[in-house]
Amino acid sequence: MLLKHILLTYFVLISLKTNAQFFDNEECSVTISDKYIRKIIPVNETGFRNPLLNQYNLKKNDVIYIIPVKFWIFKNKKTSNDPSELKEFIQYLNYYYSINNTGIRFSLRPDYEYINKEKLFNLRYYLQAPFQSLKMKSKACINVIIVDKLVKKKFFNSQKKKYAGTYNPISNGVIISRNISTSTLSHEIGHYLGLKHPHRGWKYKWFQEPVSRTKTMPFSKKKMCECKGDKLCDTPAEPNLTKYTDNKCNYTGWNIKDKYGEVYKPDTHNIMSYTNNRECRNKFTKQQIALMLHTLSENKYSKYWKTDITENKKYLPDAFEPDNYKETATELFFNTPQIHSFHSIYAGKNKKLLYDRTDWVYFNLKKTINRPLTLYLSSVEFTFPELLISIYYNSQLISEKKLTNISQTNKITVNKAKAGKYFIKIQQIVETEREKKYMIFIKN
Ligand SMILES: [Zn+2]
Repeated sequence: MLLKHILLTYFVLISLKTNAQFFDNEECSVTISDKYIRKIIPVNETGFRNPLLNQYNLKKNDVIYIIPVKFWIFKNKKTSNDPSELKEFIQYLNYYYSINNTGIRFSLRPDYEYINKEKLFNLRYYLQAPFQSLKMKSKACINVIIVDKLVKKKFFNSQKKKYAGTYNPISNGVIISRNISTSTLSHEIGHYLGLKHPHRGWKYKWFQEPVSRTKTMPFSKKKMCECKGDKLCDTPAEPNLTKYTDNKCNYTGWNIKDKYGEVYKPDTHNIMSYTNNRECRNKFTKQQIALMLHTLSENKYSKYWKTDITENKKYLPDAFEPDNYKETATELFFNTPQIHSFHSIYAGKNKKLLYDRTDWVYFNLKKTINRPLTLYLSSVEFTFPELLISIYYNSQLISEKKLTNISQTNKITVNKAKAGKYFIKIQQIVETEREKKYMIFIKN
């Protein structure tokens, strides 16, 4: 108990200190290794010195890392445990990180937890957030707390401010509130991956990043854009865009100048910016991607997240995850095969692996048919010892079939199928050490 209080006091002091610096109006703070930043400065217009970017020459579907995300959901008695919101969070993360060719993807850790505590439902930014973020922590993943509201109340002031999210650099955890923009979690995880706000320090002359990309620091040859703001030269210097952008993503601060008298020309679409309408944000720059990949390469768990290591094959989720529950089932379209897999999740040293042995899919039958409806299931590379397939119609179990030694295509038929929504649960009964892919297909 005493330790808890010491820690609490410590983190309150830290958060006060961070806010008292030049971080006014900031949600979060992060530190970047300056040594690395200099390595990713462009050599010329097209080339980057960054070894990771050159090495991978990333294309749209390249995936270098898949990072498990563990959610801690603070709830009260009224909210239901509905994992479909978690699937949405993961899908938006993967959307923003794939359209920008980052090589980074995320998967849902199946051991997410619901915490039933009324008084934490609206989490206090100063007192409760750092403490909870330190407490709700699992290893080998990104920990994300979901609260209903994240509230910041200034001391000696009754004014309340609501926050969409925050990243705590000490606990390395993320907290987000509900009903936020689709890009908020990507922004906070951007901080986890080493990124800072492009407007960092703009209000303070000493810290301000100049608009010019060529201005150098006094008494040194280093470029100012490498040393100030987010320390990246391919993200333009900008003011906090909350006040200076309209709802349609246009910049409205045309008369705002940096301390050298140059007008700002910001990018209103950068995920790390504070664009007023947060839905405008959808971009990471090349240097931001390079920095994220670098931060990952230094993360002690990243070797378990890397996709090109043979031993990690067993950790790779399929493209339809998370789908461990009926609520997170993936739609199966007629005559369109899907390849799914069962996989395990690394949970840290001396910890038991977590297994994902259940998949849910659903399909909609628009009209009742008088002939049988056939579901096909086959293994892809290896044979399955045993699978259990359950089919539900309107929450009622209508068929259950155990499949053993699946080496060729198996058929499951539903006779005289009525129109409606069908759910299929596919369970792996006997664990195998091999890759566990299967193909599922429904014929109309
Ligand atoms: Zn932020």
